[in-house]
Amino acid sequence: GRANIGVVGLAVMGSNLARNLASREGNTVAIFNRSHDKTEHVLAQHPEANFVASFSYEDFAASLSKPRTAIIMVKAGRPTDFVIDELVKVFEPGDIIVDGGNALFTDTIRREKAVRETGINFVGMGVSGGEEGALRGPSIMPGGSDEAWATLGPILKSIAAIAEGEPCVTHVGHDGAGHFVKMVHNGIEYADMQLIAEAYDLIRRATGKTPAEIADVFAEWNRGELESYLIEITAEVLRQTDADTGKPLVDVILDQAGAKGTGAWTVQTALDLGVPVSGIAEATFARSLSSHPEQREVSGDLPGPDISEGVVFLEGEDADTFIEQVRLALYASKIVAYSQGFDEIRAGAAQYDWNIDLGAVSKIWRGGCIIRAQFLNRIAEAYDAEPGLPVLLTAPYFVEALGRAQTPWRNIVSLAAAAGIPAPAFSSSLAYYDGLRAERLPAALIQGQRDFFGAHTYRRIDKEGTFHTLWSGDRTEIEAEDTH
Ligand code: NDP
Repeated sequence: GRANIGVVGLAVMGSNLARNLASREGNTVAIFNRSHDKTEHVLAQHPEANFVASFSYEDFAASLSKPRTAIIMVKAGRPTDFVIDELVKVFEPGDIIVDGGNALFTDTIRREKAVRETGINFVGMGVSGGEEGALRGPSIMPGGSDEAWATLGPILKSIAAIAEGEPCVTHVGHDGAGHFVKMVHNGIEYADMQLIAEAYDLIRRATGKTPAEIADVFAEWNRGELESYLIEITAEVLRQTDADTGKPLVDVILDQAGAKGTGAWTVQTALDLGVPVSGIAEATFARSLSSHPEQREVSGDLPGPDISEGVVFLEGEDADTFIEQVRLALYASKIVAYSQGFDEIRAGAAQYDWNIDLGAVSKIWRGGCIIRAQFLNRIAEAYDAEPGLPVLLTAPYFVEALGRAQTPWRNIVSLAAAAGIPAPAFSSSLAYYDGLRAERLPAALIQGQRDFFGAHTYRRIDKEGTFHTLWSGDRTEIEAEDTH
């Protein structure tokens, strides 16, 4: 075979990834797509690219040098299983099948196990950055064996985004680790987007500024500690005027947010692992709430706060102060969301026996992907200083930032509540922060309730053992079997 790498699936992602691969020195790229017209189209559009096209799985396998390495970029789910089955038939032990689609990590674990029995390596690989990233350099999160990484690593390093001189790819861990990390990346992305949306809404409703004026605020924020791709594109979106109506585009877009499911996966997985990713959950639920017009229609007349004075907008210095408080509230809530996301990765690694370097993960998100930001350097520094850090937001840098932000954060959450402006991600992040800080939690009462109705027992602060109160008897306390 002539090609050193192959791509199966030539829709937007696959064709762009294939072009990216072909553009790198020394690569010849085998390409295959189920429908032949897509393959012909890609060839016709990019005659300059170093492609070897095939129209059967047999020819595709024959066009690859050994160990054969092929990246699958097809619709996630059943189609991916189908393509894997076909490749297993024509590949040999030692070859490498890479799934670059958005697979659920438990599917990846299952597939890796099945493919490994044939002696072929299977790599589940998260790819972030959309079609632009696939073409110019994505953030890449591969799982899989060390053996596969030895062959695949250099190729992936050559096509990944570069952040501060380093390629945005690392061997995340075995089997499903890469897709797990990609899933959490998307969950964090949901939280980040929701927080930005809440900040915009609060500023608009409190100051009466236009979307274009708020675009300037975000552009300004993008020059400071919030600097990130999402803040940058927020300014672009807010500045956009609708050609038809002359209104701000954001005012003519239907306010029902869609989702492709990775946020929900992050939350479902977190529930299973017992990790409180409340910011990500609120962001996911906020999209769900927005997308129920039938419920919103009948709820418009629910009583709200009494604003008998009429709406009074903050102006001048008052508006500036408010905006700065929103910025700090956003920053603090963002720290919480990332801390929760990394907590989920830490818990997933413990559960599935992955050796994940959390600092390395934060570094590969600095380029190529949607949550790319300066901020990720601070996370990398925190884990470099203390790899076993139990809660990210307790790292000294974040403690300082949260210390600066906490009073404005509380103000903003109170004002939002008083004014009847929904800020679910801001307020749940603050509740999480205060929950972690609390010396005592009312969880003690919950244990009492559980013991009352279900004899679930409790432990005491002052002695070892497990106890139960005879609630329906004379209410004395007895030592209980430790059953939880
Ligand atoms: P789609 O998810 O739209 O999938 C289309 C591709 O899947 C086509 O090549 C299609 O072939 C192929 N396909 C579908 N069913 C089968 C089958 N049974 N057998 C063989 N091939 C099949 O393409 P995208 O490029 O949008 O995404 C590819 C993957 O990358 C997906 O898993 C997606 O979740 C993931 N991803 C997408 C991102 C994005 O921004 N779009 C970002 C990151 C990851 P045919 O032409 O014959 O129909």
